[in-house]
Amino acid sequence: MSARIFNFNPGPAALPLSVLEEIQAEFLDYRGTGMSLLEISHRSKPFTDILNEANGRVERLLGLTEEYHVLFLQGGASTQFSMIPMNFLNMGATADYINTGAWSNKAIKEALLLKRRVNISASSEDRNFCYIPKVFKFTPGAIYVHLTSNNTIKGTQWADYPDTGGEPIISDMSSDILSRPFNIRPFGMIYAGAQKNLGPSGVTLVVIRQDMVERVQDPLPSMLSYKTHVDKNSLYNTPPVFGIYVIGLVLKWLEETIGGLTAMSRINEQKAALMYDYMDENGFYTPTADKDSRSLMNVTFRLPNEDLEKRFVDEALSNGLGGLKGHRSVGGCRASIYNAVTLEAVETLVNFMKEFARANG
Ligand SMILES: *Cc1c(COP(=O)(O)O)cnc(C)c1O
Repeated sequence: MSARIFNFNPGPAALPLSVLEEIQAEFLDYRGTGMSLLEISHRSKPFTDILNEANGRVERLLGLTEEYHVLFLQGGASTQFSMIPMNFLNMGATADYINTGAWSNKAIKEALLLKRRVNISASSEDRNFCYIPKVFKFTPGAIYVHLTSNNTIKGTQWADYPDTGGEPIISDMSSDILSRPFNIRPFGMIYAGAQKNLGPSGVTLVVIRQDMVERVQDPLPSMLSYKTHVDKNSLYNTPPVFGIYVIGLVLKWLEETIGGLTAMSRINEQKAALMYDYMDENGFYTPTADKDSRSLMNVTFRLPNEDLEKRFVDEALSNGLGGLKGHRSVGGCRASIYNAVTLEAVETLVNFMKEFARANG
């Protein structure tokens, strides 16, 4: 185990060590079935139990009422970008989109590709997406407003969600799902690719409210209709069995070991504060996001020049700290400190940052 590094990858990303060990322990013989979960039917009782338990945990963690359905789909968050307008947005009707960076942009692009009418309610493009907008123009009668709760690449995150006056919010929560408690009521749907905060890649969590399901427009290809997946409880076709199993273990860890979202958010705040407080007081590292918009999940920062940034990433890795390179589209450095990244990992990183600044400042 000593060979394991502190993993700050943006996604796929770190998983809790106890979860990896649990997977290892029951890998060859899942709970006396004599089979690995990689070999088991998705209609078998062991798997339907896993699926139902994972559903229940999402419901409890998010405090969902009966009105919400939990789905485990495929195709990544990126498939949701096109499913959302296909399912909800009639030709000629309008949806509001808030543009806070690359992922929001991709969601907008898909709606436009489908020739749907999009209104940009707010954008932070004027300052290279380094902040979360505060002023919005919502369209009367718009079907939904789409926003990205945490901008993985630019390192910004919504502190509070906007008051949309009843217009359902649809949110891409791929990089901060289950990192903190929030009120689900204004949300018609939330979704997240699992590979940042939930488990392995290959599964997309969707939580959808019944009134949104009733809006689904027919006809749609079966696999692209939310109705299909709600009607069949994520079992219309073969779901990603192993991925859902791992997500179930992560959810159990979050509920039972960590103690739920309030406890999780306290740890996440502590981790982010360690990094931002140090950078604010030291000055060698410059966080790229405005203070009031900083992400607790993806801490993006620059060093005095690109040579130093490259050295920083390389030397960090030789010190057992991996995944600190910024996204290829923006450069700089990024520490992704999702739920599964421990306080110890962040403390070790900040200590390394101090030493690196001392040696190179
Ligand atoms: C990573 C990411 C995506 C892309 O997810 P895929 O599952 O690879 O399609 C979308 N949105 C956000 C906010 C992300 O961080």
